[in-house]
Amino acid sequence: MSARVLVVDDILPNVKLLEAKLSSEYYDVLTATNGEDALQKAEKESPDIILLDVMMPGMDGFEVCRRIKANPEIAHIPIVMVTALTDAEDKVRGLQSGADDFLSKPINDTALMARVRSLVRLKMSLDEWRVRENTANQLGVVGESSNVMTEPVEGARVLVVEDKDFEKKKIEQTLAQDHDIVMSAESGIKAIEMASKHSFDLMIVSLGLDEEDGLRLCSHLKSNERTRSLPILMIGDVDDMSRVAHGLEIGAHDYILRPVDRNELIARVRTQIRRKRFQERLRSTYEISLSMALTDPLTGLYNRRYLEVHLQKLLQKNRDSKKSMAVLLTDIDHFKKINDTFGHAVGDEVLKVVSERLMANLRSFDLVARIGGEEFVVILPDVSEQRAYMVAERLRASIADVPIPSAAVPGGALLVSTSVGGAIIDHSEHTIEEVLDRADKCLYAAKEAGRNCTVFEGVGKLDPGKYKSEERQVIE
Ligand code: GH3
Ligand code: MG
Ligand code: MG
Repeated sequence: MSARVLVVDDILPNVKLLEAKLSSEYYDVLTATNGEDALQKAEKESPDIILLDVMMPGMDGFEVCRRIKANPEIAHIPIVMVTALTDAEDKVRGLQSGADDFLSKPINDTALMARVRSLVRLKMSLDEWRVRENTANQLGVVGESSNVMTEPVEGARVLVVEDKDFEKKKIEQTLAQDHDIVMSAESGIKAIEMASKHSFDLMIVSLGLDEEDGLRLCSHLKSNERTRSLPILMIGDVDDMSRVAHGLEIGAHDYILRPVDRNELIARVRTQIRRKRFQERLRSTYEISLSMALTDPLTGLYNRRYLEVHLQKLLQKNRDSKKSMAVLLTDIDHFKKINDTFGHAVGDEVLKVVSERLMANLRSFDLVARIGGEEFVVILPDVSEQRAYMVAERLRASIADVPIPSAAVPGGALLVSTSVGGAIIDHSEHTIEEVLDRADKCLYAAKEAGRNCTVFEGVGKLDPGKYKSEERQVIE
């Protein structure tokens, strides 16, 4: 898939030149000739990267950049400022308005392609997380959308790999203004050791180490699971440009050339930290949303949505392995009365304790889900009939035999019981609906039979005494 680049410049020949260079490397190129147009295209077309001219009549590049970075929908799109000015101050101003990088005209082809390639790659991985987050949201949980790109980025943990004291001190002093926690290593081996012990937000690697090649370290970090997503900022000399390009190729995120300008260094470090935090935020939102979408917040048990997906898989597995499983439906007796008499909070407490007891009496590969108010499904894969009866009775007894403690109830505890309906599902073709319906019919029969009992399909009400003694035999 080719990446889409938006080129913004008020001078048409400049646009054409960049368009030609990028097209020859198989990028899709969009163009804009003023700030307004650029903002519109950024919003509408959502490009993978923006090359933005600084000097434009009307809205200049700095302003366009600020506006893009202030819009959560498009703030994650990397921006490279392009200008004829080589003034360090402008460079820093660009980075401060949120630009991810800076290119000077006349544009060096190696630098252009290295930048575009590495930023597009970063954007692609961010996109992947955004898509996943979106899916999680569609599953029913609305994630908090916040703009990490404009939040302050202080107190980052940075590892500096540099064997020259003077250079190291300069970096440390510069990062001190952001209260970053800076550690240092003189060699690649030391750096790898430290990265495996501590967790860093950024690694700054000198390409001018006396004893070894900083690029080898970058490559090692990128091929290691634990350090793969750790941003790397290379420090090189002007003569190092081809090695810098190689570094970006193997996954380093950014570079800075010596003599290191302090303002540029702090701006580049901030950009990397911001991106890392943005990525972390997306990841944790995704994980939380996902678990929220699949579990019940009150009891922590799986919900109906999860049950349906999982049960489908288990039915298939049953067919393949020609084994049987048991499906149990368990429902708290007269639960409405508990709510009505002691209040909803006590009802919730009971739901939690019942869930815990169900969990505690099952094997790790059994499944329990809360599918309605006070109704639970238990699935016992690969189980014999006798064992299923015994487990069903054990679950029922674990609740009925021990009162549930509650400070809000006279006497300090509450007698609660459940009714259980069960069916053995063989390895022929079944639908989820059919399977649950069969267990439900038995549950209904258990309620009819007086509650606090287990009814199995084709067997009827189980004799508690019998399964209690059988369980003892199994345990002994
Ligand atoms: P039966 O023995 O026939 O099952 O009677 P029941 O009272 O248990 O069943 P019914 O379906 O009439 O009532 C279930 C009640 O569960 C009604 C509803 O308000 C309550 N409920 C559903 N979800 C929750 C919840 O999350 N917390 C609490 N406290 N109550 C809930
Ligand atoms: Mg009930
Ligand atoms: Mg009910």
